[in-house]
Amino acid sequence: MNSKQKKQLIKKDKQNIWHPFTQMADWLNNDPCEPLIIDQAKGSYLYDVDGKKYLDGVSSLWVTLLGHRNPKIDKAIKKQIDKVSHTTFLGLTHKPAIDLSEKLLKILPENLTKIFYSDNGSTAVEVALKMAYQYWQFKGEQRNCFLSLKNAYHGDTIGAVSVGGTDLFHAKFKPLLFKNYFAQSPYCYRCSYKRSEAPFPLKAKTFKEHTKILKCCGQCIKEAEDLLAKNHKTIAAAIIEPVNQAAAGMIVMPKGYVKEYEKLCRKYKILLICDEVATGFGRTGKMFAIEHDNVKPDFICLSKGITGGYLPLAVTATTDDIYNAFLGKYEEFKTFFHGHSYTANPLACAAANATLDLLKKDKIIEKLQPKIAHFEKELSSLAEHPKVGNIRHNGVMAGIEIVKDKVSGKLYDYRLKTGAKICASLRKNGVIIRNLGDTLVLFLHLTMTKKEMSKIIGLIFKELDRL
Ligand SMILES: *Cc1c(COP(=O)(O)O)cnc(C)c1O
Repeated sequence: MNSKQKKQLIKKDKQNIWHPFTQMADWLNNDPCEPLIIDQAKGSYLYDVDGKKYLDGVSSLWVTLLGHRNPKIDKAIKKQIDKVSHTTFLGLTHKPAIDLSEKLLKILPENLTKIFYSDNGSTAVEVALKMAYQYWQFKGEQRNCFLSLKNAYHGDTIGAVSVGGTDLFHAKFKPLLFKNYFAQSPYCYRCSYKRSEAPFPLKAKTFKEHTKILKCCGQCIKEAEDLLAKNHKTIAAAIIEPVNQAAAGMIVMPKGYVKEYEKLCRKYKILLICDEVATGFGRTGKMFAIEHDNVKPDFICLSKGITGGYLPLAVTATTDDIYNAFLGKYEEFKTFFHGHSYTANPLACAAANATLDLLKKDKIIEKLQPKIAHFEKELSSLAEHPKVGNIRHNGVMAGIEIVKDKVSGKLYDYRLKTGAKICASLRKNGVIIRNLGDTLVLFLHLTMTKKEMSKIIGLIFKELDRL
C-alpha cells in the first residue's frame, strides 16, 4: 500500500470510528503513536499494510490461542461456511454446537453438565448472574446481591460492571448498578492491610504457606468471610476470576486462595461463579484455572480463547441442580428468558471444535510446560531491575509493574503515561504488548516459541534501562 492510500485510511478511521477503551482525543493526535493498520497475520506475527511485522505479545487482547491463521482452524471455518454460516438457536439446533458441548463437558469438572451459549465474555457472565438470581427465586428466596473482589473485571455490560471492582472503569456507573459486596483483592504488593514484597518466583504450595512466607495477615480472605457471615442470606452468588485478576494488571492469586473462596461459598451455601473468560483453555498451564486448586464451581464462564481467537463465542456451563430448577410446565414461566441473536454461531462453534481438537491431538498444554518455565526464568531476569516493583506470573500471562522507587513502591505520576510510552516504543521495535496503567501486560498464545518470549523480555529490559 502506498503512503497516500495509508494516509487516506487513517483519515477515514479518525473521521468515522470510535475505538474501545481509547481516549479518542489522544488517538486523533497520534498520542503515543500513529494508528497501526493491520493487514495480515501468521503464527505469532501481525503484519501492517507496509508489510512490517510485529510479534503479538497480547494474543490480540487475550483471544488468539494457537497463533494466527492456524491451518486446521482456517479449514474448519471454510468448511462450515459451505454448509451454513448462521442459523438461530431458538427452536433449532446444529451439529457444530452439539459436538462442542460434548467436547467441553469432557474437559470440565464432572459437576458441570449443561452448556448455555452466548457470544462474548460479558454475556457469559450476565447469563450466570441471571441464572443464579432466578435459581434462588425458585427456592422461594429473594437474593438481590452478589459478592466479588475489588480489582475484579467481568466485562462491560451493566450486570458485569455491577460485580466489577475496577474503580477507573466502574465507579462512574455506580447509580445504575445493583448491590454488590466487594472483598479485598489478594493483591499482596499493594494490600491496604500490609504490603508484602514477594520474592520472584514465589513457590508457596498452599495459602497458609503463602501467608507465612510473606508474613501477611490473610485479611483478603477474612474480609470475604466477614461479608458472607453478615450478608449471606441476601447473596445469590460469589464471582471470581480464578487464579488471576487479569484486567487489573495480572494480579495472580496466592496458591490455594481460590480454594479458600470456594470453601466459604460452600460454608455459607451460596453459588460460586468462576469467570475463566481470560484464564481458560491453557493460559494458566492447565486447561482451566480451577484445576490448580481442584475447585468445582456452580457456573463457569468461558469465551476469548474458545474459538482459538477467531470468532465471538461464549459459554456458561452449569450444574444439573441449576438446570433442573428451571424445568416446569410452560404456563409456570420458569423458562430462562435470555438469548442473543448470534448464540452458538455455527462458524464460531466450528472454530472452537477445531481448537479443542488441536489442544488434545497436539498435546499443546503438555508441550507448554517447559515454555512456562522458560518464561518464568526470563521474567526473573527483570525482577532485580530498579524500575520493576512487582512481577506477577502465571502460565503464559504476566504483569510487570513499573515503579519510580523500588523500595517504597511509589509509582510515576500517571500523567507521564510511562507504561503507554514503553508499549509505543516496543511497537517501533516490532513487538506489540499493552499496558494497564504502569503495569506491562504479557498475554502469550500457547504456541509462542521460547525465542519469541526472550525477545519480548529483552526489549522490555532495554526500555526499563532508559527510564
Ligand atoms: C475479557 C473478559 C471479560 C469480558 O469479555 P468480553 O468478550 O470482552 O465481553 C469478562 N471476564 C474476564 C475475566 C475477562 O478477561
